[in-house]
Amino acid sequence: MQAIRSAGKLLRVGRLAANARTSVRNLNLQEYQSKELLEKYGCSVQRFFVADNINEAKNKFSDFNHYEYVVKAQILAGGRGKGRFVDGKQGLGGVYITKDKSKALDSVGEMIGRHLETKQTRPGGVLVEKVMVAESVPIARETYLAILMDREYNGPVVVASPAGGVDIEEVAEKTPELIFKEPIDIHKGISDEQCMRLATDLKFEGDLQKKAADQIRRLYELFVAVDATQVEINPFVETSDNRVFCVDAKLNFDDSASFRQRAIFAMDNNEEKDVREVEAHKYHLNYIGMDGNIACLVNGAGLAMATMDIIKLYGGSPANFLDVGGTVTEDQVYQAFRIITSDPAVKAVLVNIFGGIVNCATIANGVIKACERIQLSVPLVVRLEGTNVDEAKKLLQNSGLTIITADNLEEAAEKAVKSIA
Ligand code: GDP
Ligand code: MG
Repeated sequence: MQAIRSAGKLLRVGRLAANARTSVRNLNLQEYQSKELLEKYGCSVQRFFVADNINEAKNKFSDFNHYEYVVKAQILAGGRGKGRFVDGKQGLGGVYITKDKSKALDSVGEMIGRHLETKQTRPGGVLVEKVMVAESVPIARETYLAILMDREYNGPVVVASPAGGVDIEEVAEKTPELIFKEPIDIHKGISDEQCMRLATDLKFEGDLQKKAADQIRRLYELFVAVDATQVEINPFVETSDNRVFCVDAKLNFDDSASFRQRAIFAMDNNEEKDVREVEAHKYHLNYIGMDGNIACLVNGAGLAMATMDIIKLYGGSPANFLDVGGTVTEDQVYQAFRIITSDPAVKAVLVNIFGGIVNCATIANGVIKACERIQLSVPLVVRLEGTNVDEAKKLLQNSGLTIITADNLEEAAEKAVKSIA
């Protein structure tokens, strides 16, 4: 289940570790973009249109007719059905089903420009900029289907559960016997037998079994063709009129394949990413936002994780991590500092550098420059160790800045936590 654990804090730090050297992000598409790809590979998705304003929705709706409509806020997080608009209509979630066309159109207007909060978003929600209107399908049964690149299996594995539509984590925890896994040999591809076995595991019966198997094959073909790391369909449904549909779709991609998936990566528009993450990326720095109040500037993902552990040990909690990596310039340190302190939640800054390749004097100069320019108003704790540390310490001392220094990580973390208390 490791691979399908949704983005928790640890996973985010894990991602920092994975990205430390290359400074890459994993591309995530909106549902409508994922479904456009699904359609291309012959997977069955409901007919839909997307709008980013009410007039566009009105126009597109004029020749879009069906017995029932499903209106869906387009945000990167899941759990929209059970979500709520923090600044919008009470009782409205991110998925709204109605037979009434004018109500459907109204709900588009209620969603655009508002913030949708779900179990997977940050508190306060995410701004909805686009809304999908789709033909609703008469769902008889919801199952779960995902294809993942999995370390444990050294290749793709299909995860299937007849108990779909709900939080799969919960299913995995409470009824693990309802989760089926089918590893696929990437060289051979998925076999008919495997597709049928999965359809059976998902409890499709009669002629629906073949239809589901056919969809599974197509989804696998898509997975390979687009260099996905995850294709998650939840729910993967059967309808009361005997059809199989991919009602929701979430695709993730391998960033190292961006050179051969240019069209897909061009769909990335940085919507919804933490602005600081985007900023950091611009300067080839790795930024991970968290919900504490100590900003951390470190070099290396391992040190980031150690720093987090020790801050927690002393009863504090990190607001973010900015990993400057190995070959960092003075200007990058300045940018890094500027980015981590731009979060109003930050009440103290901890610089923890263990310089091997990193020159501590470069860090010191960058920190001094940043403190002067941004007029830092919160306590700053600095622990430098390694290459050129003596010169770095002198620079800090002579800077005239109020800096709390520490000789080791424990002391630094303790001082940072105490500086807030
Ligand atoms: P999520 O909450 O962000 O995962 O959004 P989903 O697209 O998975 O939709 C949430 C739930 O809304 C699904 O599990 C379905 O129960 C329901 N739903 C979505 N689309 C339809 C539809 O076309 N018809 C019906 N009857 N229910 C739908
Ligand atoms: Mg879903």
